[in-house]
Amino acid sequence: MTTYLFTPPPVQSVAVHGKTERFPIRRLFFVGRNYHAHAVEMGKPVDKSVERPFYFTKDPTTLVPSGATVPYPSETRNYHHEMELVLAIGAPGFKVPAEKAHELVYGYACGLDMTRRDLQLVARDKGRPWDLGKDIEHGSVCSEIVPMPGVVLERGALSLTVNGQPRQASDVDKLIWNIREIIADLSLFYHLQPGDLIYTGTPEGVGAVVAGDRIEGRIEGVGEISVNVGAAE
Ligand code: MN
Repeated sequence: MTTYLFTPPPVQSVAVHGKTERFPIRRLFFVGRNYHAHAVEMGKPVDKSVERPFYFTKDPTTLVPSGATVPYPSETRNYHHEMELVLAIGAPGFKVPAEKAHELVYGYACGLDMTRRDLQLVARDKGRPWDLGKDIEHGSVCSEIVPMPGVVLERGALSLTVNGQPRQASDVDKLIWNIREIIADLSLFYHLQPGDLIYTGTPEGVGAVVAGDRIEGRIEGVGEISVNVGAAE
C-alpha cells in the first residue's frame, strides 16, 4: 500500500442533477474568444476563415460550486465575470472527427470563468502566460451538471446579472466554434477523458464586480448559477 508524507489532496468533483454520485474532475479547459461580440469588445476580432480556436487551462482546485461566497481575489483591481456554457466529457477521445463528437458528451452545466482582467490584459499584451489572470483560486464556478449523454447543444439563451442588473445576454447559437468543433479541435491536442470540463467561452458584456455583489446566470435548457463576491482576503 502506498503511504504519503501528508494527506493527498482530495478529488475535485461537481454535483450531477438527479444523482447522488458526483462527477469527478480531471481537467478544466477554457476556450478563448468564442463569441464574435466578446472578441470585438476585447479588441481582438476573430476571423474563423483563417484562425483556429485557442485554449487555456485552470487547475481543478479553482472550482467552487454554485451558491458559494468567494473572496475577492488578491492582486487585482478589475475582477470580471464571464458567463459560459460548460461541456462535461464522459467518454475518452483523441483526434475525434466532428461527426463523432457527440459520443464524448456527458452533459452540460452553467459556468463562470472569473478573470483578473487587469492582469490578463497585461499578460496578453506582453506575450506572457495568462495564468495569473485566469487560474484564480475560487475562480472557476460550476453549477450542477445536467446529464445529456450524446446531446450536442446548438442553441439556448444565456444571460448574467449582477445585483439583478442585466450584464450579459446572448445565445449558445452564437458560438464561433460550436460544441462539435471544440471537441474535434481540442482532441487534436489532448486525449480527452471522462471528468474533463470545457468552458466554451463567454459572450459580450463582461464586466467588473466588487465585494458584496451577487452574480446570477442562467442558460436555457441547462440551469442556473450564482456566486456571491465576499471581502478581499
Ligand atoms: Mn472565458
